[in-house]
Amino acid sequence: MSKKKNKLLKEALLLSSIILTSCGNENTINAEIQAPVFEKVIEAPTFDNNSIKEEPEEIVIEPVIPENEHVDLVMIGDVLVHKPVYTSGIKEDGTYNYDHFFTNIQEDLDEAEIKIVNQETILGGNELGFSSYPCFNSPQEIGVAEANAGFNYILQATNHAMDKNFKAINNTINFWNNYPNITMLGLNSSEEDQEVIHTYTQNGLTIALLNYTYGTNGIPLPSDKPYLVNLLDEEKVTKDILKAKEIADFVVVLPHWGTEYRYTPDSLQEKYTKLFSDLGVDLVIGTHPHVLENIETVTNDEGHEMLVYYSLGNYVSGQTEKDRVVGGMAKVSIEKDYETNETFITEYELDPIVTQQGEYTVYKLEDYNDNLAEQNRIRRQSGCSNFNMDYINNLCTEILGEDFNQETEKVKVKLK
Ligand SMILES: [Zn+2]
Repeated sequence: MSKKKNKLLKEALLLSSIILTSCGNENTINAEIQAPVFEKVIEAPTFDNNSIKEEPEEIVIEPVIPENEHVDLVMIGDVLVHKPVYTSGIKEDGTYNYDHFFTNIQEDLDEAEIKIVNQETILGGNELGFSSYPCFNSPQEIGVAEANAGFNYILQATNHAMDKNFKAINNTINFWNNYPNITMLGLNSSEEDQEVIHTYTQNGLTIALLNYTYGTNGIPLPSDKPYLVNLLDEEKVTKDILKAKEIADFVVVLPHWGTEYRYTPDSLQEKYTKLFSDLGVDLVIGTHPHVLENIETVTNDEGHEMLVYYSLGNYVSGQTEKDRVVGGMAKVSIEKDYETNETFITEYELDPIVTQQGEYTVYKLEDYNDNLAEQNRIRRQSGCSNFNMDYINNLCTEILGEDFNQETEKVKVKLK
């Protein structure tokens, strides 16, 4: 591009000198050669009638293309708030604090620009009372802890969104409205609100983020408010993704889908994966099955590649099976090349995490050990006495395959 521009500019300058000979209007010289991508202002040479015979000096133009823009994204799975999970944050003075959920991953969060958490249960307002399975309502102080940890995208399109009906959804929306730097995805206060495609922009690199759930546990959305929760609906999803493709360089879909406790995608996940891929989505990170599922790259007919994490499992929960305290933290590095105008993933990672039941804090597997495993309250559950590092490593290998490195205790794949 720069050579062509250079040639064009020379031609323009030559033409200018010819025009000057006849009319001498200096102000017209620069009119045709404005190139917004060039940071250097192109100085027009000054000509006067006496110097016209001389060859104009060759002007060397150095195009300054901005450096590639780079954004790191990190995401954790289900914050599934059973009774022991919410009682873990009750202080002696009767206040609530859940900062302990995130203490051990704070550094990882600090390194990323986009930080996403799946808030599985509704933060419906403390005056509604707290409840556990099957119809959850969780303390809003959990949202405060998420905000304190720096999460800036909160997923609320889950099968538990309608557990406490409209009032709880309304309270959850109002709660997140207190945080102008946080975008809550999945719940909407109006039809217009549901039409908005949420994006993150950093120096000309725009990333769109979309969140949907397969359903709301059989509790129907109010017929006069069908916009309350984003549902996986082929027509709606297609419309949104096409709109997102128009306004963003990179499209991320965060679906709440799959079959609970299953390590591989089910037919609904396969169907929507194909749809997302055909529409040119770049990254999919799923939640809901409460266990980890595999990661794969899907290529569509046009050769476009899409990375899929089918499920990140639980981040924190009170579930009582040993595979449900092992989840994952996804890390994806996204880059925009201004020379080609392409945006792509340079590297992706999955750091397995372990919920330390009892304390309800969470460790990265690389920081975990058999001593901690022995203290994990999951060991008291039937069939869980062999919960240890060998078990966790074997489980991760079974689900994640050969990309899971038992030495580094993570998946880390460099693409570019
Ligand atoms: Zn769910």
